Amino acid sequence: MAPAAHRDGGAPETERRVFHFGKGRSDGNKAMKDLLGGKGANLAEMARIGLSVPPGFTVSTEACRQYQQQLGGGGGAAMPPGLWDEVLDALRCVERDMGAGLGDPRRPLLLSVRSGAAVSMPGMMDTVLNLGLNDGVVDGLAERSGRRFAFDSYRRFLDMFGNVVMGIPHELFEEKLEAMKVAKGLRNDTELNVKDLEDLVAEYKNVYVVTKGEQFPSDPKRQLHLAILAVFDSWDSTRAKKYRSINRITGLKGTAVNVQCMVFGNMGSTSGTGVLFTRNPSTGEKKLYGEFLVNAQGEDVVSGNRTPQELDAMKECMPEPYAELVENCKILEKHYKEMMDIEFTVQENRLWMLQCRTGKRTGKGAVKIAVDMVNEGLIDHRSAIKMVEPRHLDQLLHPQFENPSSYKDKVIAAGLPASPGAAVGQIVFAAFDAETWHSEGKSVILVRTETSAEDVGGMHAAVGILTARGGMTSHAAVVARGWGKCCVAGCSSIHVNDAEKVVVVGGKVLYEGDWLSLNGSTGEVILGKLPLSLPTLSADLGTFMSWVDEVKQLKVMVNADTPADALAGRKNGAEGIGLCRTEHMFFSSDERIKAMRQMIMADTAEQRQEALGLLLPYQKTDFEGIFRAMDGLPVTIRLLDPPLHEFLPEGNVEDVVHMLSCHTNSTHEEILARVEKLSEVNPMLGFRGCRLGISYPELTAMQARAVFEAAIAVNDQGFQVLPEIMVPLVGTPQELGQQVSVIRQVADKVFAHAETTITYRIGSMIEVPRAALIADEIAELAEFFSFGTNDLTQMTFGYSRDDIGKFLPTYMSQGILQHDPFEVLDQKGVGELVKIATERGRRSRPDLKVGICGEHGGEPSSVAFFAKVGLDYVSCSPFRVPIARLAAAQAAL
Ligand code: PEP
Ligand code: MG
Repeated sequence: MAPAAHRDGGAPETERRVFHFGKGRSDGNKAMKDLLGGKGANLAEMARIGLSVPPGFTVSTEACRQYQQQLGGGGGAAMPPGLWDEVLDALRCVERDMGAGLGDPRRPLLLSVRSGAAVSMPGMMDTVLNLGLNDGVVDGLAERSGRRFAFDSYRRFLDMFGNVVMGIPHELFEEKLEAMKVAKGLRNDTELNVKDLEDLVAEYKNVYVVTKGEQFPSDPKRQLHLAILAVFDSWDSTRAKKYRSINRITGLKGTAVNVQCMVFGNMGSTSGTGVLFTRNPSTGEKKLYGEFLVNAQGEDVVSGNRTPQELDAMKECMPEPYAELVENCKILEKHYKEMMDIEFTVQENRLWMLQCRTGKRTGKGAVKIAVDMVNEGLIDHRSAIKMVEPRHLDQLLHPQFENPSSYKDKVIAAGLPASPGAAVGQIVFAAFDAETWHSEGKSVILVRTETSAEDVGGMHAAVGILTARGGMTSHAAVVARGWGKCCVAGCSSIHVNDAEKVVVVGGKVLYEGDWLSLNGSTGEVILGKLPLSLPTLSADLGTFMSWVDEVKQLKVMVNADTPADALAGRKNGAEGIGLCRTEHMFFSSDERIKAMRQMIMADTAEQRQEALGLLLPYQKTDFEGIFRAMDGLPVTIRLLDPPLHEFLPEGNVEDVVHMLSCHTNSTHEEILARVEKLSEVNPMLGFRGCRLGISYPELTAMQARAVFEAAIAVNDQGFQVLPEIMVPLVGTPQELGQQVSVIRQVADKVFAHAETTITYRIGSMIEVPRAALIADEIAELAEFFSFGTNDLTQMTFGYSRDDIGKFLPTYMSQGILQHDPFEVLDQKGVGELVKIATERGRRSRPDLKVGICGEHGGEPSSVAFFAKVGLDYVSCSPFRVPIARLAAAQAAL
């Protein structure tokens, strides 16, 4: 939607960088998130639909972009040309709306200045409240609203402005406050009297002089100017950049700045402030869910300094504002067709809406809300599908404790159930340590008094987060819930000592590295290491997934190497097996590994035949189990593709040789000679895939025989068997042709012997770039393609799959790569090969079935790409199947 016509005297529409919202009118609307940020667009929308929003204006993200560009070009930290005049114009509108003036002691107007990008980044950027106060204005405010209130606002402003705009550490102000409370023997800030607050203001102002060597800037317009620039600057702070990188937020212009008339929740017992979700974000229950504090400002709720009351308490103490709030929630849910997250303030019994946005929720909440909203007639199936994110399903599939009733005697503390799921890990006390330990492959639980934006890297690295302070909407809770990470917050019985790296929990002292288990669904903190299991799925999820399946066009198959994996995949909705890695069948027992090693070490055809004789029964039994599990569904079995080094024992050479000689009945000398012959400089590019089957056709023959004999046996038991054999690492049609002929010969022989036939297909993996480029020739022989995007990525980039970790962090931090290409498909390069091969393959065989079985088959953005380029299926690990189904449905929408 286009912005409303510009105000008289304002900048022309196309260049406008400041957008006013006020009593019943708005220059912006909810569709303008890119330009106004989420907060600005929704403030404009709430004002537009008639809710009571304190008047204000939004300085656009485009202005921030111009500012950053100017900075980058060495232009210094100044407003882009003309912007300040636009701000002053908009300020005059707010002053008119309010009948008040910034800096006018007789009719004081105070402002809040808040960041707000197009994508929510909770707590990452800066905010200044109570802007406009100085020694003159505070007296004016005192006359209208009382001296205690005025000076409390003034000292809060000095603290916030000093910290955010002037870079003075908040602790320097906090120290003064604490010292005052100790000297007076007070526990709460609210007990400070007027004189105390006046003294504090003087002390806070002195902090400016001592730390900055200058007086606090008392001109309100200068304060506003500096605060807007500070918010622009916070876009590029280290923590904001880190948050964007972790959450893969790219392509934004910057942050908008929302300047808004202050309303006060701290004007006594008829005032207050709160936050709420229109439904319970953890469970999805249809009931307002929030927190409320009487006589407080917003930061008191979010910071966890004071423990808020449940929202219900407001019904009693402020019935009229509460009724209006309930009504507003209904209006907003209906208008946005979404569960909303709302911030509000009540000033002397009058309700003001400060913010609304779609509420973050857990996986469980997301599915229930989507299903309920369909049942309430608020949305249709398609909107419900769009409402649940693939990562929400990821959360539903997250670990829970295996036996929740078994650990009650080990519970040593309880906090708030801030983000559900279970986590087990070793405790650390610093975000940095969490990241380091995580990089060493350890599971860690980050234990903090409370978290702040600086901790996000460590929170992300941890499997769970435990905090001593803060409510359900505290930083830790909101961030963890967004990631679906287990979090127990506000666990007030623990005492964290960061310096000593210890935490005292229920009388026990725990040290860095000790094991803890957390139940984020109950808030329990449990000593030691509990076993985890995967959760069962709810009836709502079943309903929701049935809508997903109505819409999606891509089939979703599972990568499964055992009957158990096959069943797990099928239970999660897999429509067949897209990849059975037969080499993985030999990892499961010592006998199997021994037989496999014997085969690898065989030097003559006879030795190999003997080893294959050992492998055949294993293969056959496994295939039978898998065929039974996948009754009626296709099962794609890939011929052996073992990077040989994966099958060699670990240890020093002597031990390895000794073990191999025990496993293979060969002498040490024979083993050494064979190892030398087999050893490879680049095993991942070496003697693997069809290169093995071509060199030793008896290997392919054994596998084909196991497949067909198992198929016949299971078919005879009354199951429908649909085997598909897939040849790995094909680069030339000749390679494929040779393997196809071995397989067909075996099939004919087995069928003749059994006097029956089974319908089967032979296909090719496309994982060598050359195969993608000559796909038309490959398709003459292959009845289906399956993209092995793991190897295709390896060979397209030339990055070793096994060694990318050595340089990936550097590449990511320098922006050379946005993602790990082995996790998120590189659509431009590898994706182009997928496109080319699909087109060329189908050119020579129009009914060619095309799928993908690399790790990207379960990654939502990659699945969307595969749907777009017309693949028939994706295949992924069992617990990613529902995610891939949802991503496929969303792609179809
Ligand atoms: C692939 O390369 O994408 C693939 C599925 O095969 P593997 O990972 O077994 O090499
Ligand atoms: Mg491969």
